Amino acid sequence: MTLAKARAFVYMTALSNRIQQLRPSPTFALDAKVKQLQAAGDPVVNLGLGEPDFPTPQHICAAATQAMQEGFTHYTQVAGVPELRQAISEKFRKENNIAYQSSEIVVGVGSKQLLYNAFLALCQNGDEVIVPTPTWSTYIEQIKLAEVTPVVVTLEAPFKLKASDIEKALTDKTKIILLNSPGNPTGAMIELEGLEKIAELATARNIFVISDEIYEKMTYGKPYVSIASLNDEIKKLTITINGFSKSYAMTGWRIGYAGGPQEIIEAMISLQGQTTSCTSSIAQKAAIAALAGSQEPIQRMLDEFAKRRAFVISALKTIPGLDVVEPEGAFYVFVGIQKLLNEKYPTSASWCQALLEKEKVSVVPSEAFEYSGYFRLSFATSMEQLEEGIKKIKRFVEVTKP
Ligand code: PLP
Repeated sequence: MTLAKARAFVYMTALSNRIQQLRPSPTFALDAKVKQLQAAGDPVVNLGLGEPDFPTPQHICAAATQAMQEGFTHYTQVAGVPELRQAISEKFRKENNIAYQSSEIVVGVGSKQLLYNAFLALCQNGDEVIVPTPTWSTYIEQIKLAEVTPVVVTLEAPFKLKASDIEKALTDKTKIILLNSPGNPTGAMIELEGLEKIAELATARNIFVISDEIYEKMTYGKPYVSIASLNDEIKKLTITINGFSKSYAMTGWRIGYAGGPQEIIEAMISLQGQTTSCTSSIAQKAAIAALAGSQEPIQRMLDEFAKRRAFVISALKTIPGLDVVEPEGAFYVFVGIQKLLNEKYPTSASWCQALLEKEKVSVVPSEAFEYSGYFRLSFATSMEQLEEGIKKIKRFVEVTKP
């Protein structure tokens, strides 16, 4: 064995089991590949993006600049500055009809961190967390990192979660039901009746709900309902996760928040105090401006998403062999390609890889979402890119169809 190989072996075995089992984020990996191709001069049409392509509104950036100029550049309270927690409390009351006090709110480094903190705060070895699929793979990895078991509930198109789906997966170890509506990658929303039944089921058995509501503002025709707003019993069992990344085009600022029962929120704050501390003081001032300032730039962004969604659905529907599941929210379309898979391209991963290589169009294969036979197309990119990308997908389908 060479010295380099021996050293690599030592490092491999030195890594914790936890890390050896961790699968890196597939969407970030794909994005890195696209950026690499682009850097090499390949003009890739990137329809894999998971973030708004709009700039953060000017008044939000101005508040951050002012914070820096005024020297607001130090640690803050771990849970976030009181003014921001208060503003989030008001947001929950006005927009979601949930009465969380400031003491029931924690601000952190994006909703991703708050989800992880919630799992760590609640889960014991032996617990199970119900995760409907197709799903954002982060949930599964975070649940495994918390050393508990994800129990997958596989949904069929149009991917609308019902209480009966969850009921089948319940055991006496079920600790948490994870909800994400509108969902990544499908854009599907849980119907009000479904939410009510899930709430009944959770309260009857004292099961917690983690509700990831990051795409709440991106809905196309349906009013948004937070599960914690249904009644006091379910509110006591729910941790509502949200953030500024998607709704205010602030993915790089790394700021999100959670609302929930004070005891659980305090546990999450203690954990955060010993791991990351507060999120950026500057991002917190920006977030206050986001909530307090004009919502007009956000409305413009949402109107544009609605236009693009309509275009993408009708354009994809003209391509024979694709099964287009119309999203009710978020900025993704989940597209079925089972009819197009063949010996050469037997999986969505291989099909999407060939699409990238041959047509230089990037979409995310559904294996990244614990599902097979689909890809996720993001319409968080310009109309020109969408037109160009869909034209190329059409050509690729025509050339490669079985
Ligand atoms: N939740 C879902 C469903 C997401 O798709 C994402 C990002 O893609 C996040 C949470 C993470 O958001 P944040 O930037 O607030 O960490």
